[in-house]
Amino acid sequence: MSDISANQPPFRHLLGIEGLSAPDITEILDLSDEYVAQNRQVDKKRSILGGRTQINLFFETSTRTRTSFELAGKRLGADVINMTATASAIKKGETLIDTAATLNAMHPDTLVVRHPHSGAVALLSQKMDCSVINAGDGSHEHPTQALLDALTIRRRLGHLHGLTVAICGDILHSRVARSNIMLLNIMGAHVRAIAPPTLLPGQMDRMGVDVYHNMEKGLRDVDIVMMLRLQNERMNGAYVPSTREYYHFFGLDQAKLSKAKPEALIMHPGPMNRGVEIDSELADDINRSVIREQVEMGVAVRMAVLDLLSRRPSNLPPIGPSGGPDGGAS
Ligand code: ASP
Repeated sequence: MSDISANQPPFRHLLGIEGLSAPDITEILDLSDEYVAQNRQVDKKRSILGGRTQINLFFETSTRTRTSFELAGKRLGADVINMTATASAIKKGETLIDTAATLNAMHPDTLVVRHPHSGAVALLSQKMDCSVINAGDGSHEHPTQALLDALTIRRRLGHLHGLTVAICGDILHSRVARSNIMLLNIMGAHVRAIAPPTLLPGQMDRMGVDVYHNMEKGLRDVDIVMMLRLQNERMNGAYVPSTREYYHFFGLDQAKLSKAKPEALIMHPGPMNRGVEIDSELADDINRSVIREQVEMGVAVRMAVLDLLSRRPSNLPPIGPSGGPDGGAS
């Protein structure tokens, strides 16, 4: 593995893609490439996080992200502890701040947090002495998902700059969409948002995307088709008439995909609702779908993030209310 330890990452936490620069992102992706190679060997372990403690604190369900962070930490030699909201004092009414103070007293080195409320992870980071990684906060950000998506695309197509990426479906509730839109813009890709008006946030044009309400039009000549799950758990009331009708207009099937470039890749962050946002056969099409590859890239990206954050100088000043001098880049 090449020595990039001379690089001092400009961030103490990874709270979002917002604030990262193209060189920051490239540095993470380059290191992730090395971890992809390592993860394909029989011996996947390194000891660079030996003696360190990583706590995964999940207030929302997760399969991929939690397992992936756990594997990533263990492969780098850290002691990893998993805490879920259902099996902790949070269930007994403890506040987020008290939970943070309790965990802080145990001197973890990294805290990986998923929370249903946007901004909760940033709040928590202000109470912790260790690095905090956002594993998804409400409909706000999911930075490691955007990074793993970028790694998947870059390894397949060689670059991100100049590509056209269509993000389709429930953009309104999707932290994956927000983080991806920011990352793709930073890296010089063109982003299209394709969704019914009810599933789009206001002022999308300010986010640097072209908006479409029609899949056939929006998918024309795109390089990447990124599908999103209907996030029913974040919906109050009905945003689509029925899942059947949604699939008819916005579900990815062969006919709609034929409008994209012939070699266009299909992505989905998971979990997938087959037959709702994506045709089951397309999801499994080994020539077009890179959904399983995204999962593999997730472990490598999280190893790279854990590695880079562990290199931060230990004498960084505490972060202030707005994220402070070093927190601002997260
Ligand atoms: N797994 C992703 C997330 O946590 C996407 C999803 O749940 O639909 O945001």
